[in-house]
Amino acid sequence: MEDKCGVIGVKLNSGHAAFPTYYGLYALQHRGQESAGIVSFDGFKQHTKKGLGLIGEVFKEDDLKQLTGPSAIGHVRYPTYGSINKKTVHPFNVNTRQGFLALGHNGNITNAESLRKDLEKVGHVFTTDTDTEVLVHELARNLIKADLVQAIKQTIERTQGAYSTTLIYNGKVVGFRDPRGIRPLCIGELDDGYMVASESVALDVVGGKFLRDVKPGELVILEETGLESRRITEKTPAHCFFEYIYFARPDSNIEGRSVYKVRRKLGELLYDNHGVATDLVSPVPDSGRAFAAGYAEAGNIEYIESMMKNRYVGRTFIMPSQETRERAVRLKLNPIEPNIKGKKIMIIDDSIVRGTTSKQLIDSLRDNGAEEVHVRIGAPPITSPCNLGVNMASEEELMASKKSVSEIKNAIGADSLEYLSLEEISEALDIPKNNLCTGCVTGNYPIK
Ligand code: SF4
Repeated sequence: MEDKCGVIGVKLNSGHAAFPTYYGLYALQHRGQESAGIVSFDGFKQHTKKGLGLIGEVFKEDDLKQLTGPSAIGHVRYPTYGSINKKTVHPFNVNTRQGFLALGHNGNITNAESLRKDLEKVGHVFTTDTDTEVLVHELARNLIKADLVQAIKQTIERTQGAYSTTLIYNGKVVGFRDPRGIRPLCIGELDDGYMVASESVALDVVGGKFLRDVKPGELVILEETGLESRRITEKTPAHCFFEYIYFARPDSNIEGRSVYKVRRKLGELLYDNHGVATDLVSPVPDSGRAFAAGYAEAGNIEYIESMMKNRYVGRTFIMPSQETRERAVRLKLNPIEPNIKGKKIMIIDDSIVRGTTSKQLIDSLRDNGAEEVHVRIGAPPITSPCNLGVNMASEEELMASKKSVSEIKNAIGADSLEYLSLEEISEALDIPKNNLCTGCVTGNYPIK
């Protein structure tokens, strides 16, 4: 699974909004590593800097100085729809007769193709295959006859899918969320203005104060004088539960819940409901750490690192074949033999996707002398792909789409394997199941 995108919008009373946007983007780098961009507005002119790569590769100090003005939006991208090239880097800008518009979003527009055909019929020309370009054109079309709030309302009414969005229009900075609130978006107060961001960690790094999450179907305009909010539509929420399990940073808060605490609680449930006697419990780094800490505390079991992650094997690692892919697991995660030899080990992870990593890990733990290797997963089995903003394997590649839990246990070579149920996830989150998107584990999506 790959992360999706991260968005930010900043409105200051004075000064350069590009600076808090840039620092906030750094805190959201885990949500997208393929490209980054910032658009600012100085009252007269829009300024843009975008590029392929990590934030540190895209922006130099001089770039930030040239992104003048008290209004800015920023974006980091991992593509889940459309290609990767310079033209597809967000935010997308269009110059309309009414003014400058730029927009970036996190999610997938599921009816982008039909919207694009409608727009092409009335003369809109597209330069990329992204759904974001469709969204910005749809909004630009609605702005011809309506004010900004009405135009966003009309856009939301015609657009299906998951889309947490920030936009800048003639200096106004706006954040809005799709009617189900699938992807996160929160609001914070800065010393001299306001920020909207995908995750609260973006506020933390600029000394901002978290105010609240943007409600599903709500749009928020950041003004010098305060916030203006409009609830465009109200539907049953369908928050992506995998944000808590995997995507969001553990130091973020989403919908009033600490992601770290949720993961610990899930670890406790793994012990209470699915525990087995082992000498130690160990996380798959880094994502399994909070789960394993919760498991260890609930069972009063020693928590120990049994493998080390190589942080320098990144997105540029070349994996031309399955054999190399398997070797890559060892490059990324290497066992710590003295912590393993002769031990019965419980390994905790957040998910099993293809099963390749789990099998390689278990094999290498056994090669290093582990007596037993048990596995617990802090989520239900992933049986279906996500079309709402997460790049997952295809259904054929997802191990749980074809195999039972017992077959997966045998395929990865574990002594035992158990997953959490959706009921347990709902309990840990204290969110009813029908207020969560569970498409990838049930095949029932909140949106066609
Ligand atoms: S399908 Fe899964 S990953 Fe995608 S939004 Fe729904 S819960 Fe999240």
